[in-house]
Amino acid sequence: MKAMTISYEVGSNLYLNFTNQCPCACTFCIRNNADGAYGSDPLWLEHEPSMDEITADLLKRDLSKYSEIVFCGYGEPTCRLDVLIKTAEWLRTKADGVKLRINTNGLGDLVNGRSIAAELCSVIDVISVSLNAGTKDEYMNVTRPKFENAWEAMQKFTADCVKTGSSEVVMSVVDVISAEQIEAARAVAESLGAKLRVRKYDE
Ligand code: SF4
Repeated sequence: MKAMTISYEVGSNLYLNFTNQCPCACTFCIRNNADGAYGSDPLWLEHEPSMDEITADLLKRDLSKYSEIVFCGYGEPTCRLDVLIKTAEWLRTKADGVKLRINTNGLGDLVNGRSIAAELCSVIDVISVSLNAGTKDEYMNVTRPKFENAWEAMQKFTADCVKTGSSEVVMSVVDVISAEQIEAARAVAESLGAKLRVRKYDE
């Protein structure tokens, strides 16, 4: 079932969903399991919303009440980089003081054919990269990206974000992986200057 759920609340945060495109096919992706996330309406978009549709949707909300506004949804937000940046800039004028975060697979450089860390970090406070595993083999098995150099590109993107010095950079894994993979993932994150966050499967 398709609908137009552009934004949805999870706890004290607001999540934004504006693309279903993604260069990965993660084995654990909630897109494989259900139409919605966390009790939201279905997140498969009937079409990709325009800036006007996104801002019209957001203007219905009291934006200043949220702890964080998160670019996430049923797809990879950097697949629509222009819309992502413009929406973040617009939010800066409407929800001043609210933290902006992106949950990304870290493959935005490959998707866009250039380094995007500087422009992303100029508007987003927290960059959260899905690391998913501690080794390349496991990462490729779990994430199933369409790019052969995804593991390397994801790490370069993360290091570039850290180097900007303007955003908090976190890498995440889900607690379904082994303790060895978690420790290997921690070493990868720390080598890039990022923090590791171990998320619960249903978070
Ligand atoms: S990167 Fe995210 S949206 Fe894409 S397949 Fe993986 S979990 Fe799903």
